[in-house]
Amino acid sequence: MRNDSGKTISIWMTTAEVSDQPVLTENTHADVCVVGAGIAGMSTAYMLTREGKSVVVLDDGSIGGGQTARTTAHVSNVLTYRYQELEQMHGKEGAKLVAQSHTIAINTIEAIATQENINCDFERLDGYLFPPDMKSIDEIQQELEAVHRVGLTNVEMVKKAPLTGFDTGVCLRFPQQGQFDPLKYLAGLAEAIQRRGGRIYTGTHVEKIQGGLPARVETSNGKVVTADAVVVATNSPISNLAIMHFKQAPYMTFVISAKVPSGSVPKALYWDTLDPYHYVRLQRIDEQYDLLIVGGEDHKTGQADDASSRYARLQTWTQERFPMAQEVLFRWSGQVEF
Ligand SMILES: Cc1cc2nc3c(=O)[nH]c(=O)nc-3n(C[C@H](O)[C@H](O)[C@H](O)COP(=O)(O)OP(=O)(O)OC[C@H]3O[C@@H](n4cnc5c(N)ncnc54)[C@H](O)[C@@H]3O)c2cc1C
Repeated sequence: MRNDSGKTISIWMTTAEVSDQPVLTENTHADVCVVGAGIAGMSTAYMLTREGKSVVVLDDGSIGGGQTARTTAHVSNVLTYRYQELEQMHGKEGAKLVAQSHTIAINTIEAIATQENINCDFERLDGYLFPPDMKSIDEIQQELEAVHRVGLTNVEMVKKAPLTGFDTGVCLRFPQQGQFDPLKYLAGLAEAIQRRGGRIYTGTHVEKIQGGLPARVETSNGKVVTADAVVVATNSPISNLAIMHFKQAPYMTFVISAKVPSGSVPKALYWDTLDPYHYVRLQRIDEQYDLLIVGGEDHKTGQADDASSRYARLQTWTQERFPMAQEVLFRWSGQVEF
């Protein structure tokens, strides 16, 4: 993958302190070996230790050092695909499951942060999905009906999002969404996992996973973890290559974040329905300033090499709609799998 993603710094890399973990230097055994210490792997490991399982987590980088460090961390049941599309793809029951699972994910993150006392800036807030122009009102009305069909009955159509700098026009308001600092959350999960006896090794690249009882997870320095079960949580899977890679479509996506006077942009999650779409949220910096985080400008991985123009277009889009935006403090990119 040719891009600048690995070199860029997201805001979370500067706000959270994620503790260093050792490299695996001897063979070991656990009930479950989790490969990947992003939000998927760390959440799985946390749940397993809570159930009394012995767990080893392996990551070839640092905790959260993959795409979890690059997310904008909208914790939401508003997805890239509209619910009308999800109904076509997965049927009505399938789309309901999608809505339920994402709602449960928001609730679960909130509950874990509370129970484990993880100070990760988790907040509940509204989300606004708006069509980029008035021609799309039909689309929004149909989407509202689909959203209600999948069980998100508290979603409503409103005349506009509560922004002063720009009129979004008619949009959908999704209550009870969430946002957080993903790396502060993972730092807290790491502590909770270790408190329950879980072991986390970073800088440990997994080369081969062999099924059977026990399964064998072989690392590049020759050390082996044997386990009753292995969970591969590497985002892009390193096992089942033939099955999953054909189903996944990786896209690069880009983010800028600019200082805005505190309170000048109402705190909420925002998305438009363009393709590629823009996604927006805020993060508090201090008493005086918030950070306005704006993402978009996606392209299929490998099909463009023009990050600087994409950041420039994001900045123009932001300035036109959020004239209060000042200095851009962060620009970063990452890869999402569809
Ligand atoms: C700019 C951007 C904005 C986004 N915004 C949102 C959003 O608002 N809301 C949302 O829900 N999602 C968002 N996403 C998507 C979200 O970031 C990802 O879905 C999520 O972080 C994936 O988590 P993960 O644990 O599956 O993968 P990762 O965080 O990538 O973790 C996988 C881990 O596996 C490790 N690994 C890989 N191969 C090996 C190996 N061979 N051996 C050992 N370890 C290995 C990696 O080092 C990595 O740490 C966004 C993504 C980007 C890039």
